[in-house]
This record gives sequence, structure tokens and C-alpha cells, in this order.
Amino acid sequence: SIMPATLSAISNGARKGILFKGGIHVEKLANMKAIAFDKTGTLTNGTPEVTDVFTRKDIDTNALIEAVAAIENQSTHPLAEAIVAYAEDRGITNLPSPEKLNEQSGFGVEAVWNQQTWRIGKKSFVCTDNTDFFAEETAVLTQEGKTIVYIADEHGPAAVLALQDTIRDESAPLMKQLKNAHIHFVMLTGDHESTASAIAKEAAIDDIAANCLPEDKLKKINELKEKYGHVAMVGDGMNDAPALAAADTSIAMGAGTDVALETSDIVLMKDDLQSLKQAITLSKRMNRIVR
Ligand code: ADP
Ligand code: MG
Repeated sequence: SIMPATLSAISNGARKGILFKGGIHVEKLANMKAIAFDKTGTLTNGTPEVTDVFTRKDIDTNALIEAVAAIENQSTHPLAEAIVAYAEDRGITNLPSPEKLNEQSGFGVEAVWNQQTWRIGKKSFVCTDNTDFFAEETAVLTQEGKTIVYIADEHGPAAVLALQDTIRDESAPLMKQLKNAHIHFVMLTGDHESTASAIAKEAAIDDIAANCLPEDKLKKINELKEKYGHVAMVGDGMNDAPALAAADTSIAMGAGTDVALETSDIVLMKDDLQSLKQAITLSKRMNRIVR
């Protein structure tokens, strides 16, 4: 049967918008030694904006934006939505739909538009990693924490877009508050190493795993479990469902995907990272009472 202290933690949590899906999760959270965070939408606000555009000399920027926006209009990825919004701000709307669209989760999209085949996404997806693709510009942009979207047409590298997401106001203060609890913080992301380190630094995160595919995030969780014991993961479920499932405690944010909200052990309904601190405090208090 459920202990009074556990029940009290669960009901206190509920009042604060923290949903513990069972007493066991209150108990386990207090013992966690490492927390892995998804980057986009978890440590950041998840609403990136296009800040820079570099195109190959023979390409008209507006024509490029048209093609890219028409293709990204078919995707629900946060980067895709940002690119479509950027085009709309420039009056580029009502574009014909692309053909032969193929979106590869964690990589990007490929499609035919206006009789041209386009690839949009990660560098390794769009061309070989050693292609010189606005290398000097992207080096600077990634150090600023911006995400680069690479674009190629049938003639090869065509353009790069830089997108800036903002870090949640509560990210760095939360890590600093939890520092004396001796918890190790890790960021998991499909983004580039350099972008990831810039954001980790600003968010006061100890360690990063960048360039991650969903299976790499899962692997990292298992490594953390070996090294630290009990590991929690906070994410929105957008292609991190396997990693969330592998964590000892999975935590979803209120604005996450339905799958994440359904399958996670704890839900932070307020979509505010500060709730994580409150959840940890509740679980530690309960464990002190029980022991
Ligand atoms: P994260 O782990 O940060 O949430 P994802 O796994 O969703 O990132 O995506 C990893 C990378 O793949 C992105 O940084 C981007 O370069 C590329 N990508 C994925 N989908 C798209 C898309 N629809 N348009 C452009 N780039 C994309
Ligand atoms: Mg994601």
C-alpha cells in the first residue's frame, strides 16, 4: 500500500503541475545521479529563427527560399517551421507542393520542387562531410550557438541557413541550484558539436553528446547508467522516445509529444524547467520522511 508521505508528495506535486505517475517515481527521482536533457524544446524554447542566409553565387536568394520553404512546409520539425515562417515574413507563401518528398528523421528532407531535386538538413545528409560548404561562415555561426541547415541542389552545395534558438531563462539558474545536489548534467542533441557546446556553456551543462541519432541518445543513456547509477532524462519525445524509455526516470515537458506525455514517469505540465527542481525537492523530502 502507498505510504502517507508518498501520497502527500504526489498530491503536492499535482498542485504544482507535477504529475508523478506512481509512488515509485517519487522514490526513484531522489536517488538520481545524472540528468540527460534533450536540447531543442527542453533546454531551449524550441522556437528557432532564421538569422543568416548564404547562397552560392549563381543562386537567387528568393528563389532558394521559395524552394526550401515549399519543401519544409511538409515537415513539422521546429527548424522546418522556422524556415517557413521566415519565408512568410518575406511574402513568400502559397507555394506549390513538392514531389517525391522523403523526410529522414534526425537528418533532413529530400524532395523535387520546380523540376529540381533538393536536399535540406544535416551536412552529412546533404553532402559529404569534407565538402567545403561555407566552412568559415558556419564555424563562426555554430560558435554563436546557431544551428546550420545545409541545402544542396543537383549541382551540389547551394546554401546554408543559420537558425538561432533561445535558451530557456530558467535553464542556467536551475543547473546552478542543483549543483550542490551533486547531479551530473548532460545534453543530448542531433545538432553539431560546436553549436551544442555553445548552448551547453550558456545553460551550465557539464557534458554534451552531439550529432546524436535516436540510437546514439539511447547508447549515451546506457553509458550514463553504468557510470552514475540512476539516470533521469528530460525530453519532448521528438525522436528521443528510445532514450526516454531507457532512463530510470523519464520526464516529459507539458508541450511535448503525446507519446512522451503518455509513456513518461513524470510530466511537468507547466512547460517550465523550474518544475524539475520542485519535483526533486518533493521526492527528497518524501524519502527523508520514509527513511
Ligand atoms: P535534436 O536532437 O536537436 O532535437 P533532431 O534529431 O530533430 O535534433 O535533428 C538533428 C539535425 O537534423 C538537425 O539539427 C538538422 O540539422 C537536421 N534536420 C532534421 N530534420 C530537418 C528538417 N526537416 N529540416 C532541416 N534540417 C533537419
Ligand atoms: Mg528533438
